[in-house]
Amino acid sequence: MTRQLLLAAARSSAARRAVLAAPMGRAVVRRFIAGETREDAVRAVDQLIVRGLHVTVDHLGEDTTDPARADAVRDEYTALLARLGTAGIGGRAEVSVKLSALGSALRPDGHRRALERARAVCAAAEAAGTTVTLDMEDHTATDDTLAAAAELRADFPRVGVVLQSCLRRTEADCRELVHTGSRVRLVKGAYAEPSWAAFRSRGEVDRSYVRCLRLLMEGNGYPMVATHDPRLIEIAGTLAVRAGRPQDSYEFQMLYGIREDEQRRLAAAGETVRVYVPYGGDWYGYFMRRLAERPANLGFFLRALGHG
Ligand code: FAD
Repeated sequence: MTRQLLLAAARSSAARRAVLAAPMGRAVVRRFIAGETREDAVRAVDQLIVRGLHVTVDHLGEDTTDPARADAVRDEYTALLARLGTAGIGGRAEVSVKLSALGSALRPDGHRRALERARAVCAAAEAAGTTVTLDMEDHTATDDTLAAAAELRADFPRVGVVLQSCLRRTEADCRELVHTGSRVRLVKGAYAEPSWAAFRSRGEVDRSYVRCLRLLMEGNGYPMVATHDPRLIEIAGTLAVRAGRPQDSYEFQMLYGIREDEQRRLAAAGETVRVYVPYGGDWYGYFMRRLAERPANLGFFLRALGHG
């Protein structure tokens, strides 16, 4: 119930105004977000790389409402990638992009224009020696995002995409994406979805995750296991061994500020661990989805609100 309310609040402009006006310490948001500027992001990336971790950087923003804003998002990504390339860390740092931030929902030709902008971001990534993963948004965006990923991969074969185990369709999508060169980030899914499209219970979502993971590990692509769930992390390790996969043929991914000890433990055990580093002023939707995921995060937030 709390989760549904918070996910609804993540989409509500009134709730957004209330949270932005709240006298919360920056520290609360800073626990999950690297900062508001590109330099904040680069600093966080440097610190993670020094600790032996990999990163994927997300410039926060979604549901862009005008073309100029979508162009600005593209330009921010290309500038960020140039910065990462100059710093020589393209080998360890990639970027994550939401098509809605690039204007996919704009009328009349948002999808086509967003794809053009995504192409520019992919070209900048290639020049910096790295690549792009397309984040996945709610179920209404799945077909368009998979189609965009397929189009981009024709020119930029390392482009990755996200699949969500909460969706009933995802096992079938995994079967389509087990080919050589494919890069799939498997997540549980962060959006409120209708029951015809998504499993409702945690158990069902977790079992779907394991089925999808098995397909990806037994396939020929590069699985990106994005979860903080200790049970699923253990199962991923077991499935990788059973499939005869060397440690460099898959990776674990976690969000910035979450289970940092586990990130370090896995890296020390020789696993590739990539941390998803969000930055930017438009942190509200991302922040609310993190609160929805974990009651402990909500308590932390409410205590900080109480203390001003
Ligand atoms: P949960 O069911 O949230 O948690 C399972 C268990 O993990 C908990 O019981 C606990 O033991 C442990 N755990 C979780 N959080 C914590 C914590 N803060 N501290 C300690 N233990 C904890 N979603 C999308 O819809 N689209 C995307 O493109 C997308 N990209 C993502 C990229 C990355 C790298 C990651 C990690 C997640 C992404 N997500 C995305 C979010 C994802 O869908 C889930 O909402 C999020 O990861 C929480 O699910 P979980 O697998 O960690 O498991």
